[in-house]
Amino acid sequence: MLKQDMNILVIGGAGYIGSHVVKALLAHGDSVTVYDNLSTGCRENLFPQCRFIEADIRDYSALQAAMQDAERPVDAVVHLAALKAAGESMLEPERYAEHNIAGTIKILNAMTAAEVPFLVFSSSAAVYGEPQYLPIDEHHPTEPTNFYGATKLEIERLLKWYSQLRGLRYASLRYFNAAGYDPDGEILGIERNPANLLPVIMEVALGRRPHLQIFGDDYDTPDGTGVRDYVHVTDLAGAHILALDHIAAKQQNLVLNLGTEHGVSVREVFELAERITGREIPMAVAARRAGDPAKLMASSQAAREVLGWVPRYSDPETLLQTAWQAYLRSDSGIASVSGSDSS
Ligand code: UDP
Repeated sequence: MLKQDMNILVIGGAGYIGSHVVKALLAHGDSVTVYDNLSTGCRENLFPQCRFIEADIRDYSALQAAMQDAERPVDAVVHLAALKAAGESMLEPERYAEHNIAGTIKILNAMTAAEVPFLVFSSSAAVYGEPQYLPIDEHHPTEPTNFYGATKLEIERLLKWYSQLRGLRYASLRYFNAAGYDPDGEILGIERNPANLLPVIMEVALGRRPHLQIFGDDYDTPDGTGVRDYVHVTDLAGAHILALDHIAAKQQNLVLNLGTEHGVSVREVFELAERITGREIPMAVAARRAGDPAKLMASSQAAREVLGWVPRYSDPETLLQTAWQAYLRSDSGIASVSGSDSS
């Protein structure tokens, strides 16, 4: 480790993954400023110890101010601010290009202007597209099948150039299916209008939506439903700390998958959710969702070898248990239902 107490700007730090990363950085002893436009992130996710800047990544002067007017120089940026709905990205590519690609260029330019040396970037398994083999390792071809994945891949290409031309050191972390909530129950914001499987199931269990639609049960998988590699958000957050320490200490760039190498089917998630919530979850099989591959699983051997990363909370029971606790809290009024993700 290079430095114990780094000063870190977390862009998208009020979102679902961002807030878990902030919690991990604070526990690691770092100083954190959260930069977020609160479009999907939420105030309940802000930790009182953090400075907060409410601003958009398309606002270059706000980025410059965040990187240059801080009480002390920013040592590193963690960038998790993005639009992330794959289906929507196919219908509104301009908005995705503007937020994800143009917004990130502004972040990179503000970083080079302020000489901020380190970046941890939220990338995605969506950079790979249709799997050509499983589990997917980092050498797998990158041919995104949706524009969201294409924006993440474009940014990865830019990172290489900024590294070569400006000496930026970065870690690009390709998340598989982020799920679960803070096991300590400290992170209170719940996603608004979720489209991902676990939050949808939670909303059905609470009666906030009528039923779960299983998108296809005729895939070439053991029970016919889609198989994914779910990874706990607290495990993802831990990988950010390890990655930052690594790039700072070794002055090396990293591109790493974060997944567990274990596939779980939609039907298995549904059945486990009924058991853990103790509630009946109305379900109907619907048509396949466009662009959904049958199976996605990561090889995370590189993250284990390079970072010593070991997922601790990513078993299906803990994923669902921690998610259910968070939704029960939100339902009992301890937290208000609000925004979420920025990955
Ligand atoms: N899924 C489903 N119903 C839903 C949401 C998702 O059957 O309401 C399925 C989806 O087809 C996929 C898996 O659950 O097989 C995970 O989907 P999610 O949107 O959570 O993540 P993705 O893998 O698309 O990033």
